[in-house]
Amino acid sequence: MRPCSRVVTLLLDYLEGRLLPAVRAELDEHLSRCPSCVSQVRTYRSTVSLLKSLREEDLPPELRTTLHSFLARQSEN
Ligand SMILES: [Zn+2]
Repeated sequence: MRPCSRVVTLLLDYLEGRLLPAVRAELDEHLSRCPSCVSQVRTYRSTVSLLKSLREEDLPPELRTTLHSFLARQSEN
């Protein structure tokens, strides 16, 4: 099974539907067995939809920085 650390790096592409079908199937398989990754997906999804619902120029600069570093951290782990 793909390790969790590897799964996390794919979540953004997963949520945006950009993964190759084979990779996506592998990820779905992982998520069906791994509650901790499922909760990561939930957190990630709400963060991504929050970001999309806001226009960057509406955000205070410090919040924008926080969100960007949050997303950068998620994809590094
Ligand atoms: Zn996992």
